[in-house]
Amino acid sequence: MLAQYFEVKHAHPDSLLFYRMGDFYELFFEDAVEAAGALDITLTRRGRHKGSDIPMCGVPVHAVDTYLARLIRKGFRVAICDQVEAPEEARKRGANQLVRRAVSRVVTPGTLTEETLLDPARNNYLAGLAESRGDFGLSWVDISTGAFFSQQAGRAGLAVLLARVSPSELLVPDRLPGASDVLDEYRDILVPQPSARFDSANGERRLKTLFAVTALDGFGSFTRPELAAAGALVDYLDLTQKGRLPRLKPPRRHSSGASVMIDAATRTNLELLRTLSGARRGSLLGVIDRTVTSAGARLLAERMTAPLTDPAAIDRRLDEVSYLAERVQLRAEIRTALAGMTDLERALSRLSLERGGPRDGAAVRDGLLRAGDLHAMLADAGAAPAGIREIADALHGHGELVALLQAALVETPGMLARDGGFIAAGYNGDLDRLRSLRDDSRRLMAALQQRYAAETGIASLKIRHNNVLGYYVEVTAVHAATAHEVQFFIHRQTMANTVRFTTTELGELERDLSQASDKALALEIALFQELVARISACASAIDRTSAALARLDVAASLAQLAAERAYVRPQVDDGLDFAVAEGRHPVVEALAEEGTSFVANGCDLAQDQRLWLITGPNMAGKSTFLRQNALIAVLAQMGSFVPAAHARIGVIDRLFSRVGAADDLARGRSTFMVEMVETAAILNQATSRSLVILDEIGRGTATFDGLSIAWAVLEHLHEVNRCRTLFATHYHELTALADSLSAMTCCTMRIREWDDDIVFLHEVVRGTADRSYGIHVAKRAGLPEAVIDRARDVLERLESGEQASAASRLIDELPLFRSVLVPPAAAAPDGPHPLEVELRAVNPDQLTPLAALEMLYELRTLAMPEKNGG
Ligand code: ADP
Ligand code: MG
Repeated sequence: MLAQYFEVKHAHPDSLLFYRMGDFYELFFEDAVEAAGALDITLTRRGRHKGSDIPMCGVPVHAVDTYLARLIRKGFRVAICDQVEAPEEARKRGANQLVRRAVSRVVTPGTLTEETLLDPARNNYLAGLAESRGDFGLSWVDISTGAFFSQQAGRAGLAVLLARVSPSELLVPDRLPGASDVLDEYRDILVPQPSARFDSANGERRLKTLFAVTALDGFGSFTRPELAAAGALVDYLDLTQKGRLPRLKPPRRHSSGASVMIDAATRTNLELLRTLSGARRGSLLGVIDRTVTSAGARLLAERMTAPLTDPAAIDRRLDEVSYLAERVQLRAEIRTALAGMTDLERALSRLSLERGGPRDGAAVRDGLLRAGDLHAMLADAGAAPAGIREIADALHGHGELVALLQAALVETPGMLARDGGFIAAGYNGDLDRLRSLRDDSRRLMAALQQRYAAETGIASLKIRHNNVLGYYVEVTAVHAATAHEVQFFIHRQTMANTVRFTTTELGELERDLSQASDKALALEIALFQELVARISACASAIDRTSAALARLDVAASLAQLAAERAYVRPQVDDGLDFAVAEGRHPVVEALAEEGTSFVANGCDLAQDQRLWLITGPNMAGKSTFLRQNALIAVLAQMGSFVPAAHARIGVIDRLFSRVGAADDLARGRSTFMVEMVETAAILNQATSRSLVILDEIGRGTATFDGLSIAWAVLEHLHEVNRCRTLFATHYHELTALADSLSAMTCCTMRIREWDDDIVFLHEVVRGTADRSYGIHVAKRAGLPEAVIDRARDVLERLESGEQASAASRLIDELPLFRSVLVPPAAAAPDGPHPLEVELRAVNPDQLTPLAALEMLYELRTLAMPEKNGG
């Protein structure tokens, strides 16, 4: 056995080998050690190899999916090695012959199809990347749905594209010179392949064969690197699926300008698909998703990752939403019909990979049946927009297949064909006969038992069944002698209280029965394969229908959202305006506590005021305002209504959002370097069509550094990029730029001072914050009275004199705190006071507010030596 094991293992060195033995998949050696650790299952020993025990562990075949799910999640790849012949066949070849085994599939993160291993609401992409003279080609497929895409990109575009596709596995040539820094972030999912596989000629050949065409022109004009990437992808599928290629839809070519470029940092920062902490809840998607089908949820996520740039295409989507937003009754009916629908796309893909079961067949039947109902609902949508009519049109035409599946399958069939019992009665005469023979067993056995009882005169005689003897006649010990005299009774077993016999007749009946059920099962499986072939023949029509269902779900979901949350239809055009009236933050608004209300704010970035500089104290709502406008842009261009009273948006080509390092705590990499790298990307890439959101840029360094950088960045955005910009800052000094930058407008957050306290009104108004209210905030935070008083004092002096000299005068007066807090006698006569030493060592720019507070307490202790007993 070991020889066979090693042979298989040798061919799959980088996968855990699941080696089928009876009802278990066993793992041996290193694989066993790794899997036992990862799965928290018992590691045992078995036999010996080269003088030591062989580590081993196993998982039951019927539960293999759950174990696979855990291993895949932990980053393992698993080769499934099955028995490819029945044990009898091996025995026929000779005594001691091993059952033939072969790897039937390598399970990898990018090639999953099982419901249990996949997130229903997300696509799962396997991507391939190739390069040719500085141009990159990315190809990506989701084999669980058949989706297949391709796009060409330059270096900068590649990073954005990868961030958008977010593959589970990324195939790259083992030599890929040009992209190493871009790929750094994807280290964990890279699967290097021999460079020779990334060959565009091979790719072209592969695609032509796959789609049975003589030219690929019908799918779009693929570039060399795109073909090379696609070829490597198909090769890899061939390898991992062991020659059984999944059904793929013809590849769709994306052109880089068709969707808004949103880089990884912006996606993270805006919390589009998930929050900074990784949760779907609280993300934009989590808040707007009202879809009721998995395919709808996937499509909505796809649309959010790639908002469109063509106003006409956006309008077509908005038309669909409008139509359903206006029709409450129809929308409700559609959503009810869609709810609980089976995942048609994924069922179809499993069936095509011969990995599907009767339940998937029923999923196709039920899905298509519902689609027909939905078609009827939309039937008198004569005046509907083109999109809705297109959807309606794609929802019907499966009557024949549905009728076949309805006749063939029981209402709720099981998962596995080998369990049988899924073909409906009346569908196949032979099957019905075999089944009635089998099902009649009880009746036939009962009749036989009655006859034997009568013939022997033993009224208590029974016919029973167990796994060892099969069927047998049983009498109690009292009647043993009588039974032994019956001629046709053949003795089998004597137990303590009973004696068991068989008869030729009983044996024959039993053989008929077991043959009948074997034959019935074999026939069911053959019938199932026929059905699968019939379904597969309709695959592209089914694809069309399932795509329409997903579109309908998304449109109805966005309409529902608009109705629930009072969103309006945005107007997206070719202009350069950005005019949002009474905009709201979709997430903050949705998650706001009961009783609190969100303050709506307008934003008008017309060309002559395309750059808004927003000042105002902490907690006033600057960041919220910035993000809400970026999110409104994303929603509008993905074809959704938006949280505003009115919105007109000149289509945005690139969206950038950055948060200054000091504010970006959640990402855990608050280095100034990162902030600057990301800012550089914006200055190099933003065009006059772009929207740029900059929140507290330049905060990660010393004040004057930061101010100077922010200053220069603003000038560059205004003069060179000329993009629409929202810039929030705590540097009041920047407002001075309003005089020289004609399209810059200063805004501030309205505050009400009230009884020496402040109230945040969360209202954006023209003008500059007259002060930063830091001391008010400090007071709210509970800084000691004495500190607050002293801070006021200092501020007053700073604000009165010219600042530089005021500051130098203050420095002359150091140590500041001593005059207030420290009795002069306590000051050490020679050398600096400990307080002064401490203070000099402080770098305020590196202190968090909390650390500053702690430091204050420390300083205070130093300043009051009498309290320390010193
Ligand atoms: P800043 O960036 O100015 O420090 P944030 O945008 O982080 O302020 O907002 C602080 C808090 O104020 C948010 O957590 C939110 O709860 C609340 N807030 C912000 N904007 C609004 C608004 N328009 N209406 C109601 N509450 C708001
Ligand atoms: Mg902020």
